[in-house]
Amino acid sequence: MTPRAAADVDVAIVGAGIAGASAAYFLAPQASVLLLEREAQPGYHTTGRSAALFSEAYGNATVRALTRASRSFFESPPEGFADAPLLAPRGHLLFGRADQRILLEEAATDMAATGTRVQMLPGARVRALVPALRENHAHAGVLDAAAQDVDVHALLQGFLRGARAKGARVVTGVELLAADFSAGRWRLATRDGEYSAGVLVDAAGAWADEVARLAGVRPLGLQPLRRTAVVFECGRHTGARDWPMAVSADESLYFRPEAGNFLASPADETLSVPCDAQPEELDVAMLVERLQAATSFDIRRINAKWAGLRTFAADRSLVAGLDERQRFFFWLAGQGGYGIQTAPAMGMLAAALVTGSDLPGAIRDQGVTPDLLAPLRLRSGVA
Ligand SMILES: Cc1cc2nc3c(=O)[nH]c(=O)nc-3n(C[C@H](O)[C@H](O)[C@H](O)COP(=O)(O)OP(=O)(O)OC[C@H]3O[C@@H](n4cnc5c(N)ncnc54)[C@H](O)[C@@H]3O)c2cc1C
Repeated sequence: MTPRAAADVDVAIVGAGIAGASAAYFLAPQASVLLLEREAQPGYHTTGRSAALFSEAYGNATVRALTRASRSFFESPPEGFADAPLLAPRGHLLFGRADQRILLEEAATDMAATGTRVQMLPGARVRALVPALRENHAHAGVLDAAAQDVDVHALLQGFLRGARAKGARVVTGVELLAADFSAGRWRLATRDGEYSAGVLVDAAGAWADEVARLAGVRPLGLQPLRRTAVVFECGRHTGARDWPMAVSADESLYFRPEAGNFLASPADETLSVPCDAQPEELDVAMLVERLQAATSFDIRRINAKWAGLRTFAADRSLVAGLDERQRFFFWLAGQGGYGIQTAPAMGMLAAALVTGSDLPGAIRDQGVTPDLLAPLRLRSGVA
């Protein structure tokens, strides 16, 4: 017996992380949208495990342009999108030893090149901002004072609520098992029944290449890289709410205040299969060792630890565009370490490209063009 069609839509999006949710939000006013999520909760995977920073100086030139293009949405979201501001002041401070001075100067030049206002700071100023840093690790620093904390939960829920209000159907606890394209439409098989869609958007994060395979589309060679984070309690520095995010010059450690405690990461990047990533004891031990070397933190207890998969394309730019061979399959993948801070621009851009409209001015004005994100750029060398 042919399974009944549970829904027949213009666009089906696979994955309700920040990528899929933002695309659903911007597509819903223009098309009928189905957002399919395997887990019971949207945002369960990488989206719920981030360090939640917005920095216009982070990532390559394309990532920075997408982040700048997202700023106005973060600062002034539409009426009713969220109950509280999406951004809160934080700052981003790169700190280094005397032998890392050149690294710091290069970072300052690189950040300034894309328009971020940064200040080179002497050791005394660095330690005034983050008193836990040991003197030899805080010889100098580079401050991006405009970096902000993002309320990721409010952002994700705002996208989902807004998408539903405009008619999108969000279905959780349902995995896409097979996707077959015939007679100009996708037939999407799930244990919940079959869905039918005109365009299939692959926003499956670490599983984006797997979803492509399900749909008979050549994978892009995306790499899920595991990153570990912990929240720890320490004996001193309890009044440190306003410290910036402190990042070592060689990017082997970062930490920031987190609700009376501290969040820290060894900034690890370990190749993984797509999975429900878990922290490895060795990575947590490495983090504690690096924290003890660079800071005077008296770590009393680790309250939480987790790992998430940051999934990158080979050039570390994000991917958004129709597959060059399967013109009804849209890639929205490779968000890497930037999926939160670029989500508004990526959602707008995906909606424009899926519906064949021009890119919004806010995105074009930052120098973003479709070819910078097109999957085709990654094709050479992929079997
Ligand atoms: C430790 C850490 C720190 C980070 N810090 C930052 C930061 O400061 N700033 C920033 O901007 N970014 C940061 N990131 C990166 C950011 O979290 C990611 O880029 C972003 O969350 C990726 O979102 P996504 O929607 O692509 O993936 P995900 O959130 O993983 O969503 C993909 C979804 O697809 C679903 N799915 C997969 N296959 C199927 C299927 N067959 N059927 C149905 N559903 C399916 C999955 O269940 C999953 O929910 C960080 C990440 C980590 C791990």
